[in-house]
Amino acid sequence: MKNSSRNIRHLSLNDIEEYFTTMGEKKFRAKQVYEWLWLKPVGSFDEMTNLSKEIRQKLKDDFTLPALKTDHTQHSEDGTFKSRFKTHDGHFVEGVLIPTASGRYTACVSSQIGCSLSCKFCATGYMDRKRNLEFDEIYDEVVLLNNLCEKEYGKKLSNIVFMGMGEPLLNYKNVLRAIEHITSPDGLAMSPKRITVSTAGVAKMIKQLGDDKVKFKLALSLHAANDKKRHEIMPINDTNDIHALIEALNYFYRQTKNEITFEYILFKNLNDSLKDADELIKVYRQVPADLVNIIEYNPIDAASFEKPDEKKVEAFMEYLAKHRVNARLRRSRGKDIDAACGQLANKEG
Ligand code: SF4
Repeated sequence: MKNSSRNIRHLSLNDIEEYFTTMGEKKFRAKQVYEWLWLKPVGSFDEMTNLSKEIRQKLKDDFTLPALKTDHTQHSEDGTFKSRFKTHDGHFVEGVLIPTASGRYTACVSSQIGCSLSCKFCATGYMDRKRNLEFDEIYDEVVLLNNLCEKEYGKKLSNIVFMGMGEPLLNYKNVLRAIEHITSPDGLAMSPKRITVSTAGVAKMIKQLGDDKVKFKLALSLHAANDKKRHEIMPINDTNDIHALIEALNYFYRQTKNEITFEYILFKNLNDSLKDADELIKVYRQVPADLVNIIEYNPIDAASFEKPDEKKVEAFMEYLAKHRVNARLRRSRGKDIDAACGQLANKEG
């Protein structure tokens, strides 16, 4: 049987062993191939140098290896890198490498090509959703950013956040399967505690994460703590309101005991008053959340939001501290190359 349209990375180690046994080859060839696919991933069969030319040709005849390629990389003055990746069918997605003063190297990765959720403050939200990324494509993003990190900083990635383009929980299976490979000893062997999946709030899938007893952390992009305001900036709130999200997050926590973080971007005159802070505190008290990240807004061409004055930000933070909320102010990174939170849109650099 000819398999030429089959992506070899959609085969398990067992499947590849069976393939080699059927063609009369030694079983250990499968392990060699599997290592080239996941442990020290290569972008083509020709790079699998411990296989004979004949075996490489046979693999080429029978399978595809549609690896993601780095198309373009930009370097910010603050040390952040943004890479644009090209898929085998000509789409682009972006990933960001963020070094921090504390010695962390975080990769921010995308899960979909475009996004269907249309959050009003997010550049990706103004693009059409073309398709989901496959799990091997998500894995490639991480590998390519890890390679970049090793080349530029001589270090491996320390953390991964799914906060790039797309809603990870609307590409549930591929995101979970990519994380399986990222955390596997046959892959990047990264601890799941160093991985955060961020969602705009798909209550049903948050519960599913709980049922699946995942080991990674969860972040909820709250951005407004009452339904009216949240609806204005995040249309998904129509079908997944704050009450439903609080319930889902509690369920997730009961099932996993994993860390939960709230993300809250401050917008001038929208959600930056002390009354807004009060509403945020009320939501925070109803969820076993570890942390609230207060995020500086990054302007995008498509929307007219502004960031609040420094004084307002300080007052907001002080109010949270006074009420014993574990909150941290996150200054943006990579703004000069449109790599900051909410700015990913495949713009030419
Ligand atoms: S913030 Fe996330 S979920 Fe919302 S439009 Fe942007 S990429 Fe999609």
